[in-house]
Order: sequence, then C-alpha cells, then structure tokens
Amino acid sequence: MAREGNYISAKLRSEVALRASYCCEYCLIDELKTGLFCEVDHIIGIKHNSPTDSSNLACACFNCNRNKGSDLASIDWDTSEIVRFYNPRSDIWSEHFRFDSFYIAATTQIGKVTAIIFRFNDRKRLLERNPNSFL
Ligand SMILES: [Zn+2]
Repeated sequence: MAREGNYISAKLRSEVALRASYCCEYCLIDELKTGLFCEVDHIIGIKHNSPTDSSNLACACFNCNRNKGSDLASIDWDTSEIVRFYNPRSDIWSEHFRFDSFYIAATTQIGKVTAIIFRFNDRKRLLERNPNSFL
C-alpha cells in the first residue's frame, strides 16, 4: 500500500531548492542556465513507498528528473551488476564524478550508471553547461 501524504508543500520545495542553491544535485547545473526552474525529485520514488520529506528529496533539473524517472538503479553491462544511482543525500558528488571541462566524467560504477541513464553528457546538455561552445 502506498504511503499517503506525498504532497510536497511550497515551504518544503523552497527548503530543498535553497539547500541546493538552486542547482541540480545530480548534474550540478544552475537552474538559471537551463531556462527552467529546478524540480523537487523524490530520490527514491513514491511508487517504492518512500517518504516525502527532505531526506528523500533533491533539487533536480528537468533533464535529470525526466531521465531518472522513478528508476533507482541500472545495469553496468561491463560487469552485469545492478548498480544503484548516485544519491545526493547520502553520497558525495566528487567521489563519483568530476568535471572534464564541461563533460561530467564518472569515477565510480555508481557514477557511471548515473551519468549514462541521466544522460549527463548529451550534446544539448553540454551546450547548456557551455552555451558559447560549438560542439
Ligand atoms: Zn541535472
């Protein structure tokens, strides 16, 4: 049975956005660069009976949120292992990713599956991070 109370109040949305400095907690883009406000994402989706509180919420850009959906993990086809996604509440970004100019390079298996599924390095996303480039 799904939990009740999945509504995210304006106050809670504001707290999550402020905590993240209005940047996506997955790809780190500032919402001002995307032209869209960041969304409040359930890190573990409500369909998995997760709580709607700040410990399970993250500020996410439109692209990361849409690409993630309610998924929790993916398959690393190099090892055939199921690997969970990066969790901005319990993981440290710099332990899983690094910027190589505007490209987000994964440094762990968690970073790898997250970067692939969230499509961190699609051409349009690279352009968002560096609008002056001609890729
Ligand atoms: Zn993002």
